[in-house]
Amino acid sequence: MKKFAGKGVYGAVAIGRISIFKKKDLSVKRVHRNDTAGEIKRVECAKNETREQIKKLYEKALKEVGEANAQIFEVHMMMLDDEDYNGSIENIIETQKVNAEYAIAVTADHFAEMFAAMDDAYMQARSADVKDISNRMIANLMGQKEENNASEDKVIICAEDLAPSETVTLDKDKVLAFVTAYGSSNSHTAILAGNMNIPAVIGVGEEFLGEIRDGQNAIVDGFTGEIYLEPDEETLQKFIHKQKEDEEHKKLLLNLKGRENVTVDGTKINIYANIGSVDHIGAVLANDAGGIGLFRSEFLYLENSDFPTEEQQFSAYKKVLETMAGKPVIIRTLDIGADKQADYFGLKKEENPALGMRAIRICLTRPEIFKTQLRALYRASVFGKLGIMFPMITSESEVRQILEICEEVRKELTGEGIEFSPDVELGIMIETPAAAIISDKLAPLVDFFSVGTNDLTQYTLACDRQNPDVEVFADTHHEAILRLIAMAADNAHKNGAWIGICGELAADTELSETFLRMGIDELSVAPSYVLKVRDTVRKIDLGK
Ligand code: PEP
Ligand code: MG
Repeated sequence: MKKFAGKGVYGAVAIGRISIFKKKDLSVKRVHRNDTAGEIKRVECAKNETREQIKKLYEKALKEVGEANAQIFEVHMMMLDDEDYNGSIENIIETQKVNAEYAIAVTADHFAEMFAAMDDAYMQARSADVKDISNRMIANLMGQKEENNASEDKVIICAEDLAPSETVTLDKDKVLAFVTAYGSSNSHTAILAGNMNIPAVIGVGEEFLGEIRDGQNAIVDGFTGEIYLEPDEETLQKFIHKQKEDEEHKKLLLNLKGRENVTVDGTKINIYANIGSVDHIGAVLANDAGGIGLFRSEFLYLENSDFPTEEQQFSAYKKVLETMAGKPVIIRTLDIGADKQADYFGLKKEENPALGMRAIRICLTRPEIFKTQLRALYRASVFGKLGIMFPMITSESEVRQILEICEEVRKELTGEGIEFSPDVELGIMIETPAAAIISDKLAPLVDFFSVGTNDLTQYTLACDRQNPDVEVFADTHHEAILRLIAMAADNAHKNGAWIGICGELAADTELSETFLRMGIDELSVAPSYVLKVRDTVRKIDLGK
């Protein structure tokens, strides 16, 4: 068995045989032609043929993946008629007296390079599109006809890369999954695969191509981006189980979408989703979460090689708020340090990083970093319903300092005439025993608490969450943890604050009833758990 990893772009599991996608042989030769008018005419004919094919692809895509995704073929149509593109082809034919195929290939390379060099990710992805239409024109000039994957059975299509038109042309009923060695998640191929509900993994790397053969058994895990070639029996059984679970979950999804999170006796709870990147909002919407209960903003810092600017942050927060269209979005300020390191922060190496300079401790000692994030958050607040949450709190004085800095930022923005929402909720994470124990003092200062059970477990039970050897001692159902949560819930409610749980324990359905009995107001879980928790909540009777 061999294992490879890429980026999963549609979460589902496929188990089956590999079929290597064979690209057409479009190697183009440079041929001298005196009849340049004749070559330009050939380009015109190829263009007409291409136009008809793209129209058909548009209609197929419209039926299979909807209008928004079919639009890519409208973009292709526009590219085909683009003046600069056509001008370049004609110019090469006339000045160099060469064949149409060669002129198109050179133009395609030139335009693809130009797009690839652009800053904007959307424009970069257009590089694949210009190659796609050009290859189609060249294939038409060479008289190569369209082919579908001819296999009888459903197969896992593996390719170096797939162009959007190749993706749509494949017979969807015969494709179990797509795997490509290259490709970006912003590419339309990835988006189309996702919308065709086909598990897809992209960017597996070149080495993968050298290892695959037609007919080989494989497992594609679109959730994690992992591929297993010739899996052993144990792995196979594990994934058969995972696949079944996923299918059951997707059935649940259909029944539970749009339903309330309410117990048999009428007690309601909010079920929100946790995200770690703007890219995850699609999953939040698809799983019908009532809001975002934890946006781990540190991804913006971890993905960059330098501090993200106020503008970069503003545009990410704005996008999340706008997409959630008025549903609550709780963004947690920077939680860097411990296991999440970014070199440019220049943090010292520590003996005990989990007990060291992390999260709010960095923000309070380096307020310039903190203020940039707060400015971006407040500026974005006018685009939706924002809550800001602060991690790793241990004392009242930390919360008071945070509130002062927030006040400074609001004053600065007012002074600059920059709008922000007056209704931004401010909350703290309860993820240290200290915060839970003094929650009576902290609750009057904030609008909400959110319990980070991952760290609360680590700090309460003295079990490093990074150390697999002590996992057996990290009993998440430990009475100490549950008592601390109950204590924080009581203190929140006595002081007019609400309380949620955003650590992994929120998705533990064995505890859903316990949490409801404590009066927990919100559970924020990974998007794929939203409906499972909803299902559990709807079966609970608190007998009230
Ligand atoms: C937690 O500690 O439970 C939490 C939600 O935060 P993180 O896992 O990001 O530390
Ligand atoms: Mg935490």
